[in-house]
Amino acid sequence: MVPPDSSPPPRNLIVSNRLPVTIQVHDGVPRAVPSAGGLATSMRQVHAEPGSLWIGWPGDTCGLSPEARVDLDEQFVGQNLRAVHLERTQVERFYEGFSNGVLWPLFHYSLERVRLDAWKDWEAYREVNERFADTVAQVWQPGDRIWVHDYQLALVPQLLRARLPEASIGFFLHIPFPASAAFRILPWRREILEGLLGADLIGFQTFSFQRHFMSALLRVLGLEPRLEDLEYQGRMVRVGAFPISIDTRYFVARSAEPETSAAAEALRANHPGCQLLVGVDRLDYTKGLPRRVLAIERLLERAPHLHGKFKFIQVAVPSRTGVEAYEKLRREIDELIGRVNGRFSNLQWSPVQYLYRSVDEAELLALYRAGDVMLVTPLRDGMNLVAKEYVACQLEHDGVLVLSEFAGAAWELGDALLVNPYDVDQTAQAIQDALEMPLEARAERMKALRRRVQQWTVHHWTSDFLRALDAAHAENSQRQATTALPAGQIDRLLSAPGVALVLDYDGTLVPFASTPDRARPDAALLQLLGRLVARRDRLVHLASGRDRSTLLQWFGGLGVGLHAEHGYWSRLPDGEWVQRPVPSLDWMPSVRAIMERFCEHAPGSFVEEKAVALAWHYRRCEPQFGASQARELRSHLAKLLANQPAEVLPGVKVVEVRPSGIHKGLILQDLALRVPPGWPIVAIGDDATDEDLFRALPPEGIGIHVGSRDSIARYRLSDPTSVRLLLERFASAGLSALHAA
Ligand code: UDP
Repeated sequence: MVPPDSSPPPRNLIVSNRLPVTIQVHDGVPRAVPSAGGLATSMRQVHAEPGSLWIGWPGDTCGLSPEARVDLDEQFVGQNLRAVHLERTQVERFYEGFSNGVLWPLFHYSLERVRLDAWKDWEAYREVNERFADTVAQVWQPGDRIWVHDYQLALVPQLLRARLPEASIGFFLHIPFPASAAFRILPWRREILEGLLGADLIGFQTFSFQRHFMSALLRVLGLEPRLEDLEYQGRMVRVGAFPISIDTRYFVARSAEPETSAAAEALRANHPGCQLLVGVDRLDYTKGLPRRVLAIERLLERAPHLHGKFKFIQVAVPSRTGVEAYEKLRREIDELIGRVNGRFSNLQWSPVQYLYRSVDEAELLALYRAGDVMLVTPLRDGMNLVAKEYVACQLEHDGVLVLSEFAGAAWELGDALLVNPYDVDQTAQAIQDALEMPLEARAERMKALRRRVQQWTVHHWTSDFLRALDAAHAENSQRQATTALPAGQIDRLLSAPGVALVLDYDGTLVPFASTPDRARPDAALLQLLGRLVARRDRLVHLASGRDRSTLLQWFGGLGVGLHAEHGYWSRLPDGEWVQRPVPSLDWMPSVRAIMERFCEHAPGSFVEEKAVALAWHYRRCEPQFGASQARELRSHLAKLLANQPAEVLPGVKVVEVRPSGIHKGLILQDLALRVPPGWPIVAIGDDATDEDLFRALPPEGIGIHVGSRDSIARYRLSDPTSVRLLLERFASAGLSALHAA
């Protein structure tokens, strides 16, 4: 019988800018009152799970006495909350300055609103992210899942990874991720991307945001992600689209209550003979309110027969009040609505009713139930829950949703009337189509929309994200467990009579550089290699794809064995270069000609000429273009070389052609004869050509792949720095300290 799984379910640590509470102070005594809406609603169920903890800023507590703060913190403990208290200036600079003054407009493509003095607030953004990471690290226990939310905390995943290397960390971005051309204007683009990459899983609202993120990784960090994951610092980072949703059942049930029906009826009765057009938005420049009003004006201009036949009720919920951009927007909307009403009203009717305030849930539900047409026309929006809530409340399937194609929701709600909100005329036409749409067509569209919001709710969103996080984290943990070089194995190597090291160079001993000649060995590396070969119990051979003269120039005096052009040339320490016999090189001129043609088309690429090989490098090309040209070149070469004794090697940002049968494995065949008995051979390399080395190792040999690509090597190291640390141990383990090492 399988014993029941006794391990407790993982605790969820939710990390967001705001805690889901509002602080109310009566007679100097603070009370933390649960807040509704937004993330609080979305994460309610996850937070309610046993042991869960929510970490965030509780709101301004600066005016409270130290005792009141202690009292408040105790209340937080009882509500499974943990406060990150911030000073007022920190809030101004981290939240209003950088998060809302830089990242918010940039990620919504409102580039002209990005603050000019952004650099002033970057430091505060970094500091506050550190504060959050410190607080999470204090409460974290092994087995916990950490779920970090949104753009205010983009650095937290990597800061946490540094503090808690084994933690399960997920990040979800609630707002859009912009196309890389926009993202790249951010001076701290590297930091933000690297910050996010500390997570095991990064979630976006839509696939399109996910693609933008991947393309930013390629262009900014030079990483080559696949569509759904990438390797970063020896770990796998998964990326996916998880559209946030609503508690559909709740909205359906609430909107079916008699009170809601009655309120909706009353609302309709106030506007006899009119269809109701409804808009509900936070007053934010991303929501496209001015253009929406212009579309109403345009509709009134082109369809006089609709005058008096509809009423547009717009609720604008005050948001970020006091911020100049928002005050300006408010005035602009006031003026526009005034103009439209002034122009088209008569004594019985005016086209627009405007509420600049929040509405309570009963009013909101009544608006959703009564609205014949819902206008959701943001210029950019991560998701837009109002659209989904409206759909859920259409119990009779008779409403029409007019939806911006630039809202994340459009990805799922394709049965809405999709509009480009910048195209005022088209939006006006769509609103007219909605008003004039026959009942059957309305029902057909609305049924499809409702199927979607019933099939994919906020509970699916949370459970899907957490499941994906668990899978991503499990995969990373397993990788670490199976591929890290175990301490015992290192001890065994160090206690052997000697060790032969066969080392690749680029990507293994030094990181890649933009051109081959820039990746020269640094003094520390030369010294390390020198110390290794100075010992009688170490043999060192460098096995590189580089040409003879470069290797000789860099390492000639060191006393290491050199193998150039993937083993075509070999030179024992202080010996002469020995050349392996190769079949015909007749293919070289035509390969050179093709590669040169590709250089003309791909600026930044160049041909490296070796004695018996040709390499086309595209490291400096525009990355996506370079990769696509490389694919095309490989396919040309495959045809050209079909009957030739030459083969195409896929490398890191290089396409190389070399004679068939020449590969790094040959080096080991020779070396095996020279290595004294009982000396294990350790081969370390990072790219496809090093797989030949690993394949040729004797059974007791140790293969170590650098990076996290698939490899047949038994072990793995993350990067050149960790390779050097390992070599350092081989260099410094003294005979007397062998067992202590
Ligand atoms: N909402 C609210 N108070 C109001 C009007 C609306 O809390 O007076 C809610 C609405 O029900 C929805 C949320 O605010 O759940 C708005 O979310 P959305 O994704 O549409 O836009 P956001 O404000 O997050 O950009």
